[in-house]
Amino acid sequence: MNQSSKNQKRIVSGGWRIVQKFWPQIRQERLTIATSLLALIVKTIFHLLEPWPLKFMFDQIILADFNVEPTGIKIIDDLGIMGLLTVLALTIVAIVCVRAVAAYYSSVSIALAATNIMTEIRNRLYYHLQHLSLSFHSRAKSGDLITHVTYDIERLRKVTVIAIVPLLTNILTIVGILGVMFWISWQKSLIAASTLPLFLISTLYMGKRIEHSARVQRKREGAMAATAAEAIGAIKVVQALSLAKMLGSTFSGHNQNSLKEGVQTQKLRAAQERIVEVLLAVTTALVLWRGVQLIQQGAITPGDLLVFITYLKMAFRPMRQFAKYTGQIAKATASGERIVDLLEIEPTIKDVRGAISASPFRGAVRFENVSFAYEDENLTLKNIDFDVKPGQRVAIVGSSGGGKSTLVSLLLRLYDPLEGRILIDDHDLREYQLDSLRGQISIVLQESVLFAVSIFDNIAYGSLEAKESEVIAAAKLANAHDFIMQLPEGYDTVLGERGATLSGGQRQRIAIARAAVRQAPIVILDEPTVGLDNQNEQAVSEALARLTQNCTTFLITHDLRNAKSADLIVYIESGRIMEKGTYQELMQLGERYASLFNTSHPLSNIHG
Ligand code: ADP
Repeated sequence: MNQSSKNQKRIVSGGWRIVQKFWPQIRQERLTIATSLLALIVKTIFHLLEPWPLKFMFDQIILADFNVEPTGIKIIDDLGIMGLLTVLALTIVAIVCVRAVAAYYSSVSIALAATNIMTEIRNRLYYHLQHLSLSFHSRAKSGDLITHVTYDIERLRKVTVIAIVPLLTNILTIVGILGVMFWISWQKSLIAASTLPLFLISTLYMGKRIEHSARVQRKREGAMAATAAEAIGAIKVVQALSLAKMLGSTFSGHNQNSLKEGVQTQKLRAAQERIVEVLLAVTTALVLWRGVQLIQQGAITPGDLLVFITYLKMAFRPMRQFAKYTGQIAKATASGERIVDLLEIEPTIKDVRGAISASPFRGAVRFENVSFAYEDENLTLKNIDFDVKPGQRVAIVGSSGGGKSTLVSLLLRLYDPLEGRILIDDHDLREYQLDSLRGQISIVLQESVLFAVSIFDNIAYGSLEAKESEVIAAAKLANAHDFIMQLPEGYDTVLGERGATLSGGQRQRIAIARAAVRQAPIVILDEPTVGLDNQNEQAVSEALARLTQNCTTFLITHDLRNAKSADLIVYIESGRIMEKGTYQELMQLGERYASLFNTSHPLSNIHG
């Protein structure tokens, strides 16, 4: 199958899918689109009218001078020669003006509609991507994804404006021209149409060769860029091993070939244009040959012939552009389909049927034989089993990479377990609506993410219904109120990128305030004091103690001292629970936790 019929197939099937998916957004813009189409039709009609004043000048005025009896419609009697000439001259200007205005409105409205639709689609995609499960995001490189999506949407928008509208205009123009031509003289139209197959064969055949040659050239350029990038990227090695000469000759080989293909493409393009010109000349000659005979027989007027010849020229140009536009539209269709594909990915973590809105949790948490894997083969967590009573404090300890963060992300239902289940207040997490589950869990991470909005908003993000007094109370609880008040704009201070204007300890306290404003019965702390100096650590620890009062708390830490006061210590290694119990129990057990504790804090044991 050749490229252009492949293109057309893709445009039809893909285009239909895209229109269906985005119908709500397109519908919203229906008025603008209708305006644009209407303007397009007016523009085409006036384009078709352009040669007509000339026809009348020819038939009614010039020929009259040669004492030839005007044929066709007689309008000269009523107006007089000068009157008619003036009217016709003005008509030429008027036609072009109306056409220009219509063209303006047609392009402006379609550009407007396209921009609005694409903005809506971008929002929809953004919303969708945010709700896709983490397992999707860790598979897709999110940077790539965003670039792709942005690029795809932009291409879709641009092509709508620079290809779909001209293509529609061309189709309308050709249909209009054919209609009028047949109306003037079906005989001549048939003559004109007789060269059409030749024309089509030549453009399709040449088009295919041009496309092939351009593709080869693009490939060569890609290879050339890759060689260059490789050599420059590894310049040290290249110079050390004296590879420059060898790589240079590879490069110049690619370069030479690319040049040849480039010349070939240019040659083909030039040849195609000349063929089209010759075909046009042949058609014109044929039409003139038959046309003059028809004039002599009185079947048509000389002006008709003029209109006919002008139309021929007018029709050929858009026909030549068909291949160009369909190529562009096919590419945009591929972009559009990628967006639709993305929108059709169902989030794997979502509310199951009949999920209930969780009532306020008491905070009893049970992991029942939970296993989990990010990828199919390796289990990241194996048979995790423990029980937490409401208001208890659990410390999850163990070496880095053991699976501690993974464990709490299952509690947030960022992922679902592969086996086993997690219960809060005796119900499987999957029985709760996601929002009502996550809304009752607060979280403070080691590196808290602050947004580039005001401090007030950063705290209020914890609970979207938070009142001002609640935000301030939360800040006070988090030991943050005092330093916030010392900032030039207090709570209205807008944070710099990634919260850069605050110290690590201050940022942590804002994050704690955000967690506090949620008033959640379950709190997760993931190494929240790591990397802070003593003074800050104390302020943060105090704030955390207040935050977690009466809450079921999960504390991830590798500092075993922090775990000492916990009601339950869970010691994880390689995804398995190696030991669990209270500090006393684990020390008595005298195995991993105890020996690690003794090696890292030799003195604490004596005091503890
Ligand atoms: P810890 O919190 O104890 O340091 P993690 O739970 O972060 O351990 O990681 C446990 C294991 O899971 C590690 O081997 C880590 O490489 C792997 N892991 C973590 N996140 C992902 C992810 N998104 N995709 C694949 N593997 C992951």
